[in-house]
Amino acid sequence: LFAGAADFTWAAPELGALPPMEGVEIAFAGRSNVGKSSLVNALTGRNTLARTSHTPGRTQQLNFFRIGERFTLVDMPGYGYAQVEKAKVEAWTRLIHAYLKGRSNLARVYVLIDSRHGLKEIDTALLDGLDKAAVSYQLVLTKGDALKKSEMEKRIAGIHAALAKRPAAYPEVLLTSSRDDLGVPELRASIARLLQE
Ligand code: GDP
Repeated sequence: LFAGAADFTWAAPELGALPPMEGVEIAFAGRSNVGKSSLVNALTGRNTLARTSHTPGRTQQLNFFRIGERFTLVDMPGYGYAQVEKAKVEAWTRLIHAYLKGRSNLARVYVLIDSRHGLKEIDTALLDGLDKAAVSYQLVLTKGDALKKSEMEKRIAGIHAALAKRPAAYPEVLLTSSRDDLGVPELRASIARLLQE
């Protein structure tokens, strides 16, 4: 699935610059510093993939990476960085909404949540947007190595409760750690299943 070169195919920094809807897209979103680059790199085995969108709070663009023949990975710009001014937050919101609207080839958005912090208001705002746009999404907890087992169980239970009434949420929550390769094979399998549908 992840074999072959990843081509950086498109960067969409503004409205009207989205690539044509060709093939299946799978997107990754999360707050800045959530561990998105690390997880995407662990997932794909490519260390350079998510670097382009890495500078926190600065890069406000959607990056599209063609992965082999099977799908396009969409790296959404990190959100919730404290020092970002209002205009940039608004630009982020406009870009994401423009992307989500009518993107029928978008199979799923994996929304990354730092397991140490849980769901923040800004994450909830994104989930609201996804529910509204009826875009399927699944929550992925990152840094699963950083919590004790009992704390982690509480965290996951809390997240399940928060998801219960959300129409577009996939009920399963994935627990990952790119540091320990925890949950990475499961995430890969989840993507493979999506591509079979
Ligand atoms: P991004 O801003 O979302 O792309 O996040 P990065 O992948 O750059 O990671 C942000 C910070 O979290 C870095 O200091 C990483 O070392 C740390 N980090 C990333 N993945 C993990 C993980 O699985 N476990 C732990 N403990 N830290 C992680």
